[in-house]
Amino acid sequence: MDNSPPDMVMPDTAGLAAAAACLRGHAVVAVPTETVYGLAARADSDAAVAAIYRAKGRPDFNPLIVHVADVAAAERLAVFDARALDLAGAFWPGPLTLVLPRRAGAPLATAVSAGLPTLALRCPAHPVMRALLALVDFPLAAPSANRSGGVSPTTAAHVAASLGAAAGMILDGGACAGGIESTIVVLREGNGWKVLRPGPITAGQIANVLGTPPVANAATSIEAPGQLASHYAPGKPIRLNASHAAPNEFLIGFGPQQGDFNLSPAGDLVEAASHLYAALHTAAAAPHARIAVAPLPAEGIGAAIKDRLSRAAT
Ligand code: AMP
Ligand code: MG
Repeated sequence: MDNSPPDMVMPDTAGLAAAAACLRGHAVVAVPTETVYGLAARADSDAAVAAIYRAKGRPDFNPLIVHVADVAAAERLAVFDARALDLAGAFWPGPLTLVLPRRAGAPLATAVSAGLPTLALRCPAHPVMRALLALVDFPLAAPSANRSGGVSPTTAAHVAASLGAAAGMILDGGACAGGIESTIVVLREGNGWKVLRPGPITAGQIANVLGTPPVANAATSIEAPGQLASHYAPGKPIRLNASHAAPNEFLIGFGPQQGDFNLSPAGDLVEAASHLYAALHTAAAAPHARIAVAPLPAEGIGAAIKDRLSRAAT
């Protein structure tokens, strides 16, 4: 492995221009988004998309999310029905990913959606990612900027620690405000829809826009190929719903349960989401052999936090 440090760049005019030039040259660039840092590459290039899978050590059956500047750019890649337009209108730019039928002849690398007939699309809100999308004339594939299976990065330093020189250039936009990956929703024929990955936009918010509840049956392997049971792994055993720490445990606290790293002393779940991965990175680096996590409520974004914690513990 190449152990030289990655190229850390400020996202000012010169930094953004340099990043855009890297992307035009089919290289990867790590970029802050409002959820987590992404490892971006042009989605219309087989070589660039292959470079993402290689840098992450990601299995090639796990498709990528394609990021676009606006709905018009998204409609060139996938088929939007009225429901998809309603969701994009309500939540874009923002942390909602739509899984839609891939448009025939869309200018995209086959590997970007791992050979599926569907495509995952998102219009991000972070000003750095938006500035980059405005500078290039192609969509950006961008999974989280970490080695596959590891804890997602919410700072440039997390990206450097996980990927090293494989990150290529890192645009340092500070800590991500959201801190947890986008909600992924799939729309089926008729009125059916389902959340494939819980996230910052809740199923209740989506149901309010669509006017129908989600369908209950479980996702098929085709629909959620990347939703592996074990993911976000910090490399140590994790015990959930812990009321206190054992002597060898690093306690991730919440609310009044202080712990070694409190996700939100005020008991605010949105704040807890923004600190979740920093807590797991800190716990992984601590001398403790094990990690314990205080109980968290499942309401709102709490469902997404608990989803990530249960995968981290598997
Ligand atoms: P990441 O970008 O690393 O947060 O992962 C993106 C996730 O999006 C993958 O794990 C997949 O589960 C999901 N995804 C991407 N494309 C599709 C698709 N066409 N159908 C269903 N899920 C998808
Ligand atoms: Mg990921």
